[in-house]
Amino acid sequence: MTQLVGAHAGQDDPIGYAREVGADLVQIFLGDPQKWSAPSAPHPDGADGLRRAAQQAGIALVVHAPYVLNVASLNNRIRIPSRKLLAKVMDLAGQIEAIGVVVHGGHVRAEDDPEVGFDNWRKAIEQTPKPVPLLIENTAGGNHSMARGVERIARLWESVTAADGSEQVGFCLDTAHAFAGGEELDGLTDRIRAITGRIDLVHLNNSRGAFNSGQDRHAGIHATDGLIEPGALGALAAAAKSPVVLETPGAGHAEELTWVREQVR
Ligand SMILES: [Zn+2]
Repeated sequence: MTQLVGAHAGQDDPIGYAREVGADLVQIFLGDPQKWSAPSAPHPDGADGLRRAAQQAGIALVVHAPYVLNVASLNNRIRIPSRKLLAKVMDLAGQIEAIGVVVHGGHVRAEDDPEVGFDNWRKAIEQTPKPVPLLIENTAGGNHSMARGVERIARLWESVTAADGSEQVGFCLDTAHAFAGGEELDGLTDRIRAITGRIDLVHLNNSRGAFNSGQDRHAGIHATDGLIEPGALGALAAAAKSPVVLETPGAGHAEELTWVREQVR
């Protein structure tokens, strides 16, 4: 089966955007990613309208949860609303029949015990309805992140697999976050699969943030200020054998999708 390749789209006609750039799938937010507001489907006819439009166009949908979510947090005033909002996002993603919901791994504060953060992930998984797979994404920054670097991901996965319902939890590998988080891309899909057993989605991005800098700065695949050799990105996309989403600046998506297809062929 050929790999699906697509891109992150704005909420103004994501299906139209996918057709325009030649994407097999589109990733969308269900609202403002920086806010706690309830999610809504970006379509004039709501969730049903978006689901039907995607099906008619033959385009798969993937949802990215808001950035404000942090289910690992030891702070009740962040963790509890995070779980509530995640449940709503998951529910709506089920209604639109998305292939998954991407959620960042989150973090704890410097003074917190990271073990509590990992266990908060276990509880969140058990309490969150999962009509579609919940895909945990590796992050670039911070020394107290739950999913920066392979060692942390391994510890996180011990908690994930201890949760009831963990078969509906998968992994989203972001190349820019991996690089800026201090992981070499060569052989990374094997190192991740050895931990998680699966890679459900790749966020294929170049990085303006230096290796191991912790700086989350996406760049176009062939951008002159991108610090990852494009060939390494292509090789990773092929090795992952999973759907690929570009989170690069929108102007280059059509050409980049053509390039990605050549790499994964
Ligand atoms: Zn990403």
